[in-house]
Amino acid sequence: VGDSKDFDSEVDSVCPFCGVGCQISLKVKDGNVKYVDGINGPANEGRLCVKGRFGFDYIHHDHRLTKPLIRRDDAPAKGLNVDPGNWQEFFREATWDEALDMAAGGMKGRGREVAGFGSAKCTNEEAYLFQKIIRQGFGHNNVDHCTRLCHASSVAALMENVGSGAVTATFNEIENADVAIVIGANPTENHPVAATYFKQFAKRGGKLIVMDPRGQALKRHSSHMLQFRPGADVSMLNAIMHVIVEEGLYDQQYIDAYTENWEAEKAHLAGFTPEKMSEICGISPEMLRDVARTFAGAKAAMIFWGMGVSQHIHGTDNSRCLISLALMTGQVGRLGSGLHPLRGQNNVQGASDAGLVPMFLPDYQSVMDDGVRSAFTEVWGSEDFSNEKGLTVTEILDAVHAGDIKSMYILGENPAMSDPDVEHARDALAKLDHLVVQDIFLTETVNFADVILPASAFAEKSGTVTNTNRQVQMGRPALPPPGDAKEDWWIEVELAKRLGLDWNYSGPADVFAEMKLNMGSLNNISWDRLERESVVTYPSLSPTDPGQPIVFGDGFPRADGRAKFTPANVIAPDEVPDAEYPMILTTGRQLEHWHTGSMTRRASVLDALQPEANCSLHPSTLRKLGVEPGGMLRLTTRRGTINVMARSDRAVAPDMVFLPFAYVEAAANILTNPAVDPFGKIPEFKFAAVRVEKADQP
Ligand code: SF4
Repeated sequence: VGDSKDFDSEVDSVCPFCGVGCQISLKVKDGNVKYVDGINGPANEGRLCVKGRFGFDYIHHDHRLTKPLIRRDDAPAKGLNVDPGNWQEFFREATWDEALDMAAGGMKGRGREVAGFGSAKCTNEEAYLFQKIIRQGFGHNNVDHCTRLCHASSVAALMENVGSGAVTATFNEIENADVAIVIGANPTENHPVAATYFKQFAKRGGKLIVMDPRGQALKRHSSHMLQFRPGADVSMLNAIMHVIVEEGLYDQQYIDAYTENWEAEKAHLAGFTPEKMSEICGISPEMLRDVARTFAGAKAAMIFWGMGVSQHIHGTDNSRCLISLALMTGQVGRLGSGLHPLRGQNNVQGASDAGLVPMFLPDYQSVMDDGVRSAFTEVWGSEDFSNEKGLTVTEILDAVHAGDIKSMYILGENPAMSDPDVEHARDALAKLDHLVVQDIFLTETVNFADVILPASAFAEKSGTVTNTNRQVQMGRPALPPPGDAKEDWWIEVELAKRLGLDWNYSGPADVFAEMKLNMGSLNNISWDRLERESVVTYPSLSPTDPGQPIVFGDGFPRADGRAKFTPANVIAPDEVPDAEYPMILTTGRQLEHWHTGSMTRRASVLDALQPEANCSLHPSTLRKLGVEPGGMLRLTTRRGTINVMARSDRAVAPDMVFLPFAYVEAAANILTNPAVDPFGKIPEFKFAAVRVEKADQP
């Protein structure tokens, strides 16, 4: 820590971890980032969590990829572990020309045999270029990214019922609310700076209603804590809405002015009495009634949700309920009101906005719409491409197994760790006859790669990212990439050229300018403006408007301007506990680690704080198993078995085990269920049947 004179440069940028999008200042000395400080961005006002403040030194880790690599002809079989100690057995260094020629050569002219996974860790410009490579280069829409694994079901429900997949209000709007629901989210761990605003809200008297099958730190700040049975979201939410209907607490004026299908919703809710639903969700009828009255009685109320809502086979139904609850009480579009799915990755909002999904072109414009496709092909100067929705993440890997997809381009994602039933995903990657991986480290996915393209970390690139609040922010480079590593946009452009695409960008600013041609959401937001102001929220109504924190006060972007109620039924999880697998497995993140751990486990402070794979169980469950905290457990599901260290945690229900997914040595996704929600196609990471036994100490 020092003042300006202690550093060679200080560069303002955006934290690369979660969707809160905290603005940071990178302090550089002698070619190294020495220190990171929070600055006054709209989402963080100078605050940072432990990841943002201390999690940056992975960018200087000696595991960084610095040269393009090509698999050796005499390499051992694909799938064996490649690590910094043995990579020469598998790969040889190559020039950029050789590596790019080989990368493109294994894809060129193969049409539907090629698919791509882009990244929510890349910038908006890089995400846009990635989807353009697949659509323009191969003529189809088989391109997706990790939104499929986090909030795809929330987006499906929001698009269906509100007409927009983004939040209706920033999380900071909670300061104008008097009631807020936080459901299926653990903000103190996963959106820590947003959580500080939630705590302040509670401190000044706001009623914080926390709903989560697992206890959590916000419980201490809550007016109501509903620790409901896992998977019982719809029964609980429908019961709350039943009370609002029964007691006439809904906002008829709002419903009449701004919604449709109310009568169907109202009739549907009649059967969901608190008494009946209490047996399913485990929350008392009195509590359900009190929550209904509290929420409906609010002057201004917000609903926040996370992946506890979305990562279920009924994730879309869960979100439909939350949308209905907000609509029936008129809690959208006003100060202190709104719907806010807390987005996970730093740029999952932006990557989705930029069209890195199989069903939408940029700005959620349908690939099935002829006019939309022709608007893009005109800008791109290319032929029409498929009008069929493309395949999603899990569908692409199934298509590899079926032999329909044989070549993949994976940029900044790690499906060999992140996908459900990961052995199935790894088997699919092993079956590919050509895999190009673009990344900053030897991730588990490079075990299957033919070509590895060394890319840049956030501190080494220019580009915009969009946080959970719809705030488009400018990321600036503090350093050059190490060795021969390159910025991702440059790699994409060079690859596109070798695929025969006539691209001519001189930098991300050119890409952003092209994006604006067909993305109305970026109206009044220019690269120059972002360089000057660092952040603009979309929609921005004029070149001087900082953007609208609240939207849909005067109607919704649906055909008739009305939001829709879509009734939701109770659907059981795909796999319920039985005699063989009697407990419930749920997975998630920990404060100190990010996703598959490739960055944070190489960040010295974070790794020191959480060095070991672990799972958490209620102390009474551990006692029954005869295992002390710190002892080893064997977890087995229908997909596989892992051994992992046990922690004792009263927040976990006695019939549950919570397992973080950042640790390759006990990979949670060996166990998870690949069953997906039929609408969002999101896997059920939050519920699987598991057998838990005492294991031998390692
Ligand atoms: Fe980074 Fe999220 Fe922490 Fe902010 S809250 S510092 S964006 S990880």
